[in-house]
Formats: sequence, structure tokens, C-alpha cells
Amino acid sequence: MKHFWVFLSLTILLLTNSFAQKPDKLTSAELFHDIQKLNFLGTALYVAAHPDDENTSLISYLDNHEKARTVYLSMTRGDGGQNLIGSELAELLGVLRTQELLAARHLDGGEQRFTRAIDFGFSKHPKETLKIWDKDKVLADVVWAIRNIKPDVIINRFDHRTPGSTHGHHTSSAILSMEAFDLANDPDVYSEQLQWTTPWQPKRIFYNTSWWQYGSQEAFEKVDKSGMVRLDVGTYYPELGLSNNEIAAMARSQHLCQGFGRLTDRGTDNEYIELLKGDMPKENDVFEGINTTWSRVKGGEAVGNILYKVEENFDFQNPSKHIPELVKAYQQLQKVEDEHWRTLKSEELKNIILASAGLYLEASSASASATPGSKVTINIETINRSSSNITLNEIEIVGTDAHLSPNKILGNNQKENFEISFTVPENTSYTSPYWLNESGTLGTYTVNDQSLIGKPETPSAFVAVFTLVIDGVDIPFEKSVVHRYSRPDRGELYEPFAILPEVTSKIDEKVLIFASADTKEIQVKVRAGKNGVSGTVELDHPAEWTVSPQNIPFSIAQKGEEISVTFKVTPPDTESEGKIEPKITMGNKVYDKELVEIDYDHIPKQSVLLPSEAKVVRMDIKKSGEHIAYIMGAGDMVPENLEQIGYQVHIVDPNDVQNGDLDKYDAVVVGIRAYNVVEALKFKQPVLFDYVKNGGTMIVQYNTAGRWASQFENIAPYDVTLSRDRVTDENAEVKILAPNHSLMNFPNAITKKDFDGWVQERGLYFPSEWSSEFTPILSMKDEGETEKQGSLIVAPYGEGHYIYTGLSFFRELPVGVSGAYKLFANMLSVGKDQVKRDSNVKG
Ligand SMILES: [Zn+2]
Repeated sequence: MKHFWVFLSLTILLLTNSFAQKPDKLTSAELFHDIQKLNFLGTALYVAAHPDDENTSLISYLDNHEKARTVYLSMTRGDGGQNLIGSELAELLGVLRTQELLAARHLDGGEQRFTRAIDFGFSKHPKETLKIWDKDKVLADVVWAIRNIKPDVIINRFDHRTPGSTHGHHTSSAILSMEAFDLANDPDVYSEQLQWTTPWQPKRIFYNTSWWQYGSQEAFEKVDKSGMVRLDVGTYYPELGLSNNEIAAMARSQHLCQGFGRLTDRGTDNEYIELLKGDMPKENDVFEGINTTWSRVKGGEAVGNILYKVEENFDFQNPSKHIPELVKAYQQLQKVEDEHWRTLKSEELKNIILASAGLYLEASSASASATPGSKVTINIETINRSSSNITLNEIEIVGTDAHLSPNKILGNNQKENFEISFTVPENTSYTSPYWLNESGTLGTYTVNDQSLIGKPETPSAFVAVFTLVIDGVDIPFEKSVVHRYSRPDRGELYEPFAILPEVTSKIDEKVLIFASADTKEIQVKVRAGKNGVSGTVELDHPAEWTVSPQNIPFSIAQKGEEISVTFKVTPPDTESEGKIEPKITMGNKVYDKELVEIDYDHIPKQSVLLPSEAKVVRMDIKKSGEHIAYIMGAGDMVPENLEQIGYQVHIVDPNDVQNGDLDKYDAVVVGIRAYNVVEALKFKQPVLFDYVKNGGTMIVQYNTAGRWASQFENIAPYDVTLSRDRVTDENAEVKILAPNHSLMNFPNAITKKDFDGWVQERGLYFPSEWSSEFTPILSMKDEGETEKQGSLIVAPYGEGHYIYTGLSFFRELPVGVSGAYKLFANMLSVGKDQVKRDSNVKG
């Protein structure tokens, strides 16, 4: 059981210290809030699927009004989806969103947990979701969360009874929560977990319903609410000077990469939760009838007797007055047998003791990172800003031999500084998100250490333990070692102190397309993690590819400095794909990681180590035409991707386009969601259609049905009705409806094989109806649905061609799917075979 204690106390430590690594400095009012929370022994668990699903109003209400420990369990880290503030996608987006959730929880007072499930993209039905997630593993993680957190009440964001009405991840989160509610207390279920935790039965489970479930506010007003609890989440907290919904809006606004920055709300606001299992509370209080006092714990009454008095007589002007009582309560609490409450409440109480005495403890490094085997100096700062009787006995850095025994009385407002040095043990793990250390499946991350599962982030590399004697009692206080520095334009800053490799490498372009057998020069960047590194770089490659030279020697003087080396890479004559992987040899060690840093103002800086690699694809692709005009929409990489296969892509601003300007281009391509986001297109459709009429090719990629419909007469020169039809199974069979059409034949012959290896989905927002001028080229469907024929439709118009496609080229091209490239090249060449035939006839 010792292992479990360490695991739990580190978890709490992380939650109190992680936010931007900046130490919390509590006012008396905040300290009083923490004492009220200390005296409330009730826990709520909120369950949903993604970062941004959580109802921050309810989480803040449960924390600030009820004073309950409140945890948000998000099935995923939000790895799928778009990023509005930077270039991080997929697993890196998951890292960013994890930190945004922690930033949100820091404001609304909740804690954050996850399962191993991956946000793999949209799914229509929980059946599909649970197949890809590996239901057994994710259910195990929900049971694990319930057993560790021991919630009295669970609140689901989504309805488990309405599969198919929302994202499959959403319904799945509710289904798993309902099942786990029934399983967590059964010792025969996931019994291997019981070496670290104990079974647990929550008392109630609710569904956080909303008017949108009923279509309108008016319809919801008429609904019978006898099975629901009503909570006024607009309540005002005078001690904080904030309404609950103001706090909720600030928390929600942390989801910046999803564009959730928003205005605050004030005033009464009712939230309804519908009871699913357990007994109905008699009042509008989710904890009604549940003992949430110290008497719920054996031996807790003695602790409560002291702490309730502190709460009652709290001295806002001199909280240190309470130190003797708080220390007595701490001593009593150590006698409590119940490990769960003892651990949890000891951490809370220790933070209250620190804040009450104005005690400041910090362990910081002047450098941001170190490598295994290197020497590190940590600056220790301690100060007691009260007249309490406090002695600093010992300081140690966990996992090292670093140890000081100052045995010094900390006088009122007398700063004490120390230096402590140690060598980073050779076996210290690198600082990187733990869930990315092993390669996972499409649906779940691989995490081999059970104690890490569920944790929001990787534990700090090093923790300093300060042993203080307060009023004669030894109390250990843990603080993560941080990097503290200042910048003239930003003031004092904190970052996690990271352990990183001595050298890392990187190829900037993650997918390299070879459209011919020509050799390309590939740059590998090498970055030093410490001063004075030297060695050689090699490039591992598939057998049929050639790389020269075999290896390149390098040396770098300064830590943080980056140099480039260049290899010549030659593909085989025939189609082939694989990986090239830089390997750096220094002495007898080989380094093969890329370091990615994620650095934004609203989150602590993240260091992520990924395998250093790039995908290389030799595709036998033919193209006709050279110059492409591209009108950007919501943002995609298609222009860069087309350049990789030899097109010259010109980004065109529709504001500047006049009749005739486009005639010099072989095709005009409109980026994803352009008609949803580019105002000017409203006025430029006639110019674009004229270009087609005069012999041009216009390709429009997916747009959502909602916004453009109200603004545009039509998106095409003929009638087209966009719909919400999508095919989310990336392996769905594709039937070729028009095998003789030039799109399937020129210049590349397209076969079913070209639809192998697609990622995430086939496509989205397909037209459901179109006029007879259009030819549908392909047909596909998700399991259990009807065939959808609108993924790629083409019509001649005047001398030219108009194409509308909802196929997800914006996802397929960046990852080097060769069939998608060939099909795109054919779209750009549509009608060109006709011209050729005509000119042949003439010649
Ligand atoms: Zn969601």
C-alpha cells in the first residue's frame, strides 16, 4: 500500500503545483475557502469525452459553492480536431489541450483526469467508438478513476440513452460511466487494480441535461422536472468578488486553441441534472443525505472538532493565529487509518498551514533543463512571514543524494537561501508526456505503469522535500523543482524543469513526396542538450532507397545551439514508401528523438520527445498543367502538398480577382470551408464561373452546409444542395460509379487500390442533391447507412469544368496518401485529355 500512497500524494502535489509552475499565493479569503473545503468530505466526478465538453459552471459551482472535491474525467485529450492558435496537431494538440484543461481547472477549482482513449476523429455511433477505443481498456480506466477518486456522485455530460444523436465519443463516455458505476465496487472486476486501490460504490449518478436536448427553452420549461435537481450556477461569491458564471467563463476561455475565449455571464442561471441511479435528493443539493462531515471517517471527529472551530473563528487579519490548532489537527489526522482521506486531507491541510504562516518554500534551477549524468545546482528559498515557531530541519531532493540539514529557526520575515547540488542519475527518465512514450493503437495510448494511468501529466522530474518543525511537530512539504527566470518585457516567469537528451534531431518536413526518381537534398537539424557535444549523424532508410553520405560528423559548442547537415536521398524507380530516421551516435550511445517545445502564455512550456523521423513516398504520379491558383479557406496544407508533386501554387486573394485574371492558371482550387469564412467570395462567384466558362477548371473542397446557404445563391454554376452526409470510416469501400470518366483515367488510372491507406475519414459535408449536369464519380457509405454518391461530382460548364468534392484531401495529402495525390492530380487535369485529343486531331 505504500506505493499507492506515493502515487496519490504525487498526484495531489502535481495538481497544486502545476499551473504555469507559478506558486499560488493565497489571500485570506482564498485561504478561508480552502479551510471550508478541508471541512467538506464529499467528492463529485464529472464525466465527458473531450477538452471543452465539460460544464465549467457546474464544476465551479460544486467546488466553490458546495466546497466539494470536484474532478473532471475526460475520456480523451482532444488529439483530433483543429488548432486555432498554432501548428500543433494530433498528439501534440492533445498535449496542448491537456494543459488548457489544467489551466481551466486551476480557475474553476476542479481537478483533471483522463483515460487512455485517443480522440481519433469524428464517429457517428458509440459502437464504432468503442470498437476503436478498445472498450475493455477504457472501461477499466473509468473504473480505476472511480476507485481512486471515490466520488459520492457522478455527473455525466452526455445521455447514454441516445446513441447516434451526437459524436460517438460523447455517448460512449456516458455508456462507460454508467457501466463503471455498477462495476467499481465489484472486487472480481479488474481485480488486478486492487493491489493499488480499493473497490468503491458511488451513491448517485446524474445526467447533466439541457434545454437543447428538448429542442427549445420553451419546450424545456414544460418538461416534468420531478426527477431532476436544479442548481443555480449563477450564485455570487462576495469573498471572491465573482459570480460563479464569471469564474466558469474564465475557465472556459482557457480553451484558446479551440477558440473558446468568450464574454462573461452574470446573474441567476439554472442548471438541471437528471437522476439516473441512486436515490433522489430531497433538496436541490447533490450531496443531500450523504455524510460529508469529518464523522464519515473513523477517527475523523477528533480532527473535525479542531478544524470546525478554526473555520468558525477564522481570523482574516492574522491567519497565523490558527497555526497551533492546524498543527494539532495535522497530528490527529496522521492517526486516521483510512488512507484515502488521510492522504487527501493531509495535503490540503499542509497547504493551509503554509498559507496561514505566510511560508514560502521554493526549489528552483537557473537553467531550464539538464541531461542525465550532468550536475545541477538548485536554489532554495525559504521564508516564514509569521511569528510562529518554525524550524527548517532538512531539505532533500527525492531520488538523489542531495541533502541539507540546516536546522535553522525561521525568524519572522527573515529570508533564508541555500544552494544544493546533485548529479542527475543516469537512469532518470526524460521529461515528456508519459502517454507518448510507447506507440499506441489508433484508439488507445499504451501506458505500462498503472500508477500513471489517469494522471493529467508526467510527474515533475525532481521534487524537493522540506522538513519543517512547526510547534514541535515534524511536517514534510513537497515542492516540484522549477525553472525560475525573468524577462525584461514579461517579468518573473516559471517553467517546468526538464530532463532532456544530450542531443536531438529533426527533419522539418514530416512527409517527403518523390514524384520522380530524382535525388532530393534532405536537411537534418541537430540540437545540443548540453555544452560541447560531438558525434556522427546517420539516416536509417528503407532498403530500396539510397542515402549519401553514409554518415556526417558534427560538433556543437553551446547547449541549445542547432546545426544542419544535408543528406542526398534517392528513391527507387518504382512506387515505394517508408521512413527515414536520423540516428546520432555519440560514444557508445545512439540518440533518436526529436524535441518539440509547445510554448504559449496560457500554459506552462511543454517539452515533448517524439521519434525523429519523416515519411518518404515515391509515387508514380503523372500530371498535366503547371500553375494552380489557390484561394485559402479556413486553413489547410494543400498548397504545400501540391508543390511537393511539382505544381506551382499561387495563393490568390479573392478580393483582388477581376475578370480575366485567372485565365493564366490551369486550375483554381478553393480551400476548405472558404465559403464559410471568406466574405469576398460572396461577390466573386461570377468571376470564378466566367473563368470556368472560358475553359478553366474550378475545384471546390468541402464547406459546411450552415453558413454559406444563407449567403450564397449557389456554390456551383448549377444547383447543388450541401448536406451533413459524411463517411467517417476511412476504410469504407469505395465504388467507382463512372469508371470511364476522365477523372478516373487521366493522367493517372485510378483503381480501388488508390483508396487504401486513407486516414481518419473518407470525407464530409457531401452534397445530397445536384442538377443533371453533374456526374457523380464515387459511391461510399458507413456501416448501416445508405450509399452516398456526393463525395466527388463534376460538371462541364462552358468550355471548362466545375468539381465539388467533400473528400478529405486536406487530411490525406499531408500524410502522403498516394491515391489521394493521384486523384487530386486528375482533378487538376480534368478535360486536358480532351484538349490533347482535339489538338492531335487538328495536327
Ligand atoms: Zn466533445
